[in-house]
Amino acid sequence: MDGWDKPGHDETENGVAKVQGMTPDQISALDAQDPLRAKRAEFHIPEGLIYLDGNSLGPLPKAVPQRVCHAIEDEWGRRLIRGWNEAGWIDLPRKVGDKIARLIGAAPGTVIAADSTSINLLKALSAALELRRERKIILSDAKNFPTDLYVAQGLVRGLARGHELKLVEASEIHDALDERVAVLMLTEADYRTGQLYDMRALTARAHKMGALAIWDLCHSAGAFPVDVTGAGADFAVGCGYKYLNGGPGAPAFIYVAPQHASAVSPFLAGWMGHEAPFDFDPFYRPGPGIDRMLVGTPAVLSLSALDAALDVFADVDMRLVREKSIALGDLFIAEVEHQYAGADLKLASPRDGAKRGSQVSFHCAHGYEAMQALIAAGVIGDFRAPDIMRFGFTPLTLSYREVADAASILVRVLSEGEWKKPQYAVRAKVT
Ligand SMILES: *Cc1c(COP(=O)(O)O)cnc(C)c1O
Repeated sequence: MDGWDKPGHDETENGVAKVQGMTPDQISALDAQDPLRAKRAEFHIPEGLIYLDGNSLGPLPKAVPQRVCHAIEDEWGRRLIRGWNEAGWIDLPRKVGDKIARLIGAAPGTVIAADSTSINLLKALSAALELRRERKIILSDAKNFPTDLYVAQGLVRGLARGHELKLVEASEIHDALDERVAVLMLTEADYRTGQLYDMRALTARAHKMGALAIWDLCHSAGAFPVDVTGAGADFAVGCGYKYLNGGPGAPAFIYVAPQHASAVSPFLAGWMGHEAPFDFDPFYRPGPGIDRMLVGTPAVLSLSALDAALDVFADVDMRLVREKSIALGDLFIAEVEHQYAGADLKLASPRDGAKRGSQVSFHCAHGYEAMQALIAAGVIGDFRAPDIMRFGFTPLTLSYREVADAASILVRVLSEGEWKKPQYAVRAKVT
């Protein structure tokens, strides 16, 4: 980035590079020059809290409560069943899908917002296996998000046609892609470490081997520029409640590449995906294109929230989001490492921002306790078993100052042993 110096490196006496911190003036200058600084005003951010968990649950955009109230009181309350036509409820999956399409490099009409990521993955995977009937292997990363693996395992069992879910390490994916693989199923940004896969290169490799590629964009959509079209992805799925800020349990999305959209015959066939739902035809005929990926009645209230939430992206250049995201992550790493030398904290994310999603994670043996103590001190991140302290960076809401302060508070919690208090060892249901 122009206009500021990255944290430098000092050579210490024993030759080990030591990261320098930034001065308060340098950090203020970064905030003053931040082209995204005005976006924060479009969100409700509780006073006195540093929120580094927008990668798990995005903060509330101010436009959402009004929109949801309108959907409840005016549309539902006053219009009742007429809302499906008069308020356009029936078109929400496509309307919201088009807003997401813009963020992931998909053409209009190739994405719908519906169901959960898990369900959409089942739709994508079953459709992809249908397109490669003669092949039996689903290839994925052993460290992929568990629900992705569970969905594949359940489908293999349910189809009972001798499919196999083959799991390898990230570094082995390329070589494991051979002519027996039906589908490559990966998450672009690793949920624990933020490590990025090269979506374009691996999709090209999959295609060269005659396989299809499904990408989970849960930690990508709204976090940095994505180009499913340029990468040639066959299918993609992702979350509405993480970087897209659609609220807890928001509908997810599914993308089907245009060349497949009219060829797939959905495994989850439901009336909303029928060519003419209101013909009440006893036999399923898939709807045109992406419409066939719909199953049941759209979640209108949740879709209304997500629809309004997506408007914060309308004037946002995702390249600026990416630049700031990398700068925030670099700053956090530099500040933590500059102030803390304890052996109990070790960077788990790629140091190179270009290889990292919008998060920074550290290994820490007492990471759960430390995260609880940190949350009590006003910095919210999260913990991922077995030992990951995870910090998400959402450039639309965060300032450089907050990120530097969060680093100092983390260092204090660790160096003063605050995390050892017994209340921080109590495990909650959700971590
Ligand atoms: C968050 C996340 C999910 C969540 O799936 P749901 O069906 O919405 O619960 C799936 N995959 C990945 C990679 C995720 O990060």
